[in-house]
Order: sequence, then C-alpha cells, then structure tokens
Amino acid sequence: MTDPTLASLPPLPLRPTLQCWICESTDLSVVWHDVIDLQWSPNVAPYNHSVQPACRLFRCNTCGFGQPAAVPDIENYYGRIYHREWTDESLEFDYQATYRDTIYNDILKQLGRFHPGPNRSLLDIGAHTGRFVWLAHEQGWAAEGLEINPVTAEFASRRTALPIHTQRAEELAEHGKRYSAVTLNDVLEHLPEPMPILRSVTEVMASGGVLAIKVPHGPMQRVKEGFRRRILRRDPMLDRAGVMSNFVHVNHFSVNSLRLALESVGLKVVEIRAGRSETIPWKQSGIGRGLTVRAIDRAARVIPGSVHTPLAMNLQAFAMKP
Ligand SMILES: [Zn+2]
Repeated sequence: MTDPTLASLPPLPLRPTLQCWICESTDLSVVWHDVIDLQWSPNVAPYNHSVQPACRLFRCNTCGFGQPAAVPDIENYYGRIYHREWTDESLEFDYQATYRDTIYNDILKQLGRFHPGPNRSLLDIGAHTGRFVWLAHEQGWAAEGLEINPVTAEFASRRTALPIHTQRAEELAEHGKRYSAVTLNDVLEHLPEPMPILRSVTEVMASGGVLAIKVPHGPMQRVKEGFRRRILRRDPMLDRAGVMSNFVHVNHFSVNSLRLALESVGLKVVEIRAGRSETIPWKQSGIGRGLTVRAIDRAARVIPGSVHTPLAMNLQAFAMKP
C-alpha cells in the first residue's frame, strides 16, 4: 500500500534534455513512455514515492541515439537509487556468480587478439565486486579496477588483492596511468551525458590501446519491452518493467550512435557486433527460457548482419586509440 502522506510530498524535480547527448541534434521524437516509480527507491526521499506521471524517451532522428526527455534534477540521484546495504555475504554472492562469465570471457578473448601480451594492462571501469578484474588477471593481464562506490571497491580490493581505484578516470590519467585495454561492461547505459565520460576514458588509454564497451541495444530493447507490454498488459505491476524505469538506463545506443560516439572522441571503431547474453542457470531460468536465450545468443553470433536485428539485445564494441 502506498503511504497516503506521500501524496503531500513534491514530485521528483526533472530537468529537460534539449539536444542529443551524442550528436547535439535537436531533431528528437518521442518513441516510448515509461513511469517513474520510486517506491522501490526509498533513498530518493523526500520526494513522492508513489507513481509519477510518465516520462518519455527521445530518439534522435539524426544519429538514432535514445535518451530521456528529462532527467532527475536532484543531487546524487544515481548514488541514491543504487545505494544498497551491502553485506560481505551479498558481495561474496555477486563475486562468485558465474552467469556473466560467458560475457567476460568473450570480451577477454577478443582483447587478447589485440594484445596477446606479455606486457599488457587492463582497467575495468565500474568494477563492482571485481570478478571481471580477477578473470582478466588470471588470463595474464596486469588488471586493475575503477569503482566509485567505496563499499564495493573495498570488497573488490580485499577479495582480488588487485588495485581497485576509487578515483575517476581523468584523475588516474593525471597520475600518468595508461592501459592497453579499458573495459566498460554494462556501465555506460547508466551514466547521463556519456560524451564527457568517454572523453575522460580515452585519456587513460595508451596509444594502440583498445576500449571494449558492452551496452544494451537501445532500439531492440524497445522492441522486446513493447512485446512484453502487450503480453503483460493485464498485469499493471509487471507492466512497470520498462527500458528506462526510474532512469536506470539513460543511454539507449543504436549501432550508428555508438559508432558516432566512439569516433567523436577520436577512437577508431574496429568492430560493433551482438554482445553475449548472461547465462542464467537452468534452475533459475527454466528449460524454455534457458533454451530460448541460448538459441538467440548463438544465432546472433553466427548469422551475418544480426547486429541490426532483434537477435542483438546487446551491443559489444571494440575501438582503438590511434
Ligand atoms: Zn543524435
């Protein structure tokens, strides 16, 4: 039940986004409506936690990028919605979870082709509990992480015994740090106004260094969520699941806009292809869903041009610094 006193609180203040975050075009069309439902984000108090009016997703008609028509205009919104009471047990559970290893090993395999070693270094931005950093270390990289959250950073540092930085990328660059590979695994979709972030990421890349980015594929995620909405329309609770619920995903990259973003910061795009899917254990996914996800994942890898189809629910890009 929603607390009736919430109705007296002000709604979350929003700031409109007036131009495309990637190409600065103002030719933007509304392609999606979502809801702001802060009931599951109590740390965003003292705003009204009950369901707010719909927020809209813009598609840039020039580059194909998708972004919210407005974003929360309050201090540390993302720090608040991501705040969790982490315990060592919950962090250890995340660290030991293997369902993302297919994605991680795919990225490391490709990065290994660019930099077979031996003197190769890697920085994982948004390292969370450090599992990817550890896998990279095991495969012969001098691997380090960057994690802004002090609690998860401390855990990752202790658990992996590898360097986990809490500074921002530009601060590492100022200290002369340069890496032969930098990774952003399911991180960039969460960070509003991504261009300044990408610019600072390139500062820590060595010449010849490779950036690997995995993000959800914006237009195809909309296709999937639109389909889900039609199927689940009789259940308003489930219908709240959306491509940008509570602005958790703010950047909705198409193949073209991801390419443009990387080229705009001076990188040479080597490849943009379908990203691997998480391998949810059979027990959790059930046979039907498990088989479907695995079949789509395989089809996306073997069918030429699949990156432009709904088979590609995620994008995996590799770009080199000249
Ligand atoms: Zn654009």
